[in-house]
Amino acid sequence: VRLKASQGAHMRTLFRGGTVVSASGEYRSDVLLEGEQVLALGTDLGLEADVVVDAGGALLLPGLVDSHTHIGSPDPGKLDAFRNGTRGAVLGGTTAIVDFAMQSDGSLLDGLQRWRAQASAGSYADYGFHMIIDDVTPAALAEMARLVEEGVTSFKVFLSGAKAASDEDVLRVLRQTTSTGGLVQVHAENGDAIRVNVENALASGRTEAINHATTRPRETELEAVERAIHLGAWARRPIFFVHISTKEAVQAIGRARAGGQAVHAETCVHYLVLAEDRLMRPGVEGAKYMCAPPLRTEADQRSLWSGLRQRLLSACTTDHCAHSVKGGKDRIEVDFAHVPNGLPSIQHRLVLLYEYGVRQGRITLPELVTMTATSPARLFDIPGKGEIAPGMDADIVLFDPEGSTLINASGDPTGVDYSPYEGEQCRGSIVGVYRRGSLIVDRGEVLASPGDGRYLHRGFGAFGPGDRSAL
Ligand SMILES: [Zn+2]
Repeated sequence: VRLKASQGAHMRTLFRGGTVVSASGEYRSDVLLEGEQVLALGTDLGLEADVVVDAGGALLLPGLVDSHTHIGSPDPGKLDAFRNGTRGAVLGGTTAIVDFAMQSDGSLLDGLQRWRAQASAGSYADYGFHMIIDDVTPAALAEMARLVEEGVTSFKVFLSGAKAASDEDVLRVLRQTTSTGGLVQVHAENGDAIRVNVENALASGRTEAINHATTRPRETELEAVERAIHLGAWARRPIFFVHISTKEAVQAIGRARAGGQAVHAETCVHYLVLAEDRLMRPGVEGAKYMCAPPLRTEADQRSLWSGLRQRLLSACTTDHCAHSVKGGKDRIEVDFAHVPNGLPSIQHRLVLLYEYGVRQGRITLPELVTMTATSPARLFDIPGKGEIAPGMDADIVLFDPEGSTLINASGDPTGVDYSPYEGEQCRGSIVGVYRRGSLIVDRGEVLASPGDGRYLHRGFGAFGPGDRSAL
């Protein structure tokens, strides 16, 4: 495969001889780009191109969408975070992210402004936002309409953690979307139960990382999922569950969907590839695997793969969190409750899912594309993204299925000092990444500049105002 940089507003680039993968299948096709968009698919398009890229032997995947990242910071000066996180994104074939902006000093709009300023200056990937609401006040509820006008059409509440929402809070946010439109996302763990469990563990001197998992047993996810499903039904609004980790939660979502209720969910790559036994490792080695909900069992992994295949789970995201060992995971020296939760993986999703999913026979290539690009782009109404089709953004990953990728945290592009996937040898490698028609990654080298990413003004998708409780 030979790559050439293509620039210019009406420049035409032709990918010749590759295999295009979409949510519905894979087929040999040439792809012609014009400027920032895909112009045509087919054969005999060669005469019209300014640049021809020989894609023989390569897969052409739509640029991946990561609809669950934690890159920005409430600190407006933290530009490095966006540069590092999105450099990892594009190196991993992810051309569009939806980052979780946070309510700041009580205000949603203020939070959005802080996140947008960082992304606008630092993002390599195109970017949109969800908004975390952790203080449900009348003022915050009133601001939701403004957020929707700004293209932020999803709102996340936590049922656990320091700023957990009560059932009343969740209902108020859900009901607000009846008039504003938008989708409510739920972090589903029972925070009260977890708090008591953590107190008990610490009081009896259990401080190691494995206690992070034992204090957040699977029932704490199931209870919260079932409760939120009820809240969604009462409010007659859809619910989206982030990072589902257990078999029982997948089953609960399946029951709600079978009953016709608009319940959607995702899982994350680490719940598919890593299991709870990693947390048994002593000290910081166990703390490297702390995320919430915790890693589970191999039986849960099987259920999550199956949930993805059956589309009970719409997406596989990263929940990327850039906590290093130094000054982060090393707080396990105090105890597990002091360790920040979250795993870094934004740059590894494609190769991990290709190895553990496609090559090991758990999913097909079209299923990989569905869960990493097409489905999240449609669900979160991300304009131009998620498939290679005329009129869509020319976001294309050239993937060599016979290549190989070794995951190694030294020189990590996201600035994190470890990887939970250290030493993983995955088949397949990313040859090049095009974002809106421009070659931005050429064999591991980033050619774009920070701030090249563009804001993604999202619409409602299926989640406009009114009663949207039915699937
Ligand atoms: Zn998250």
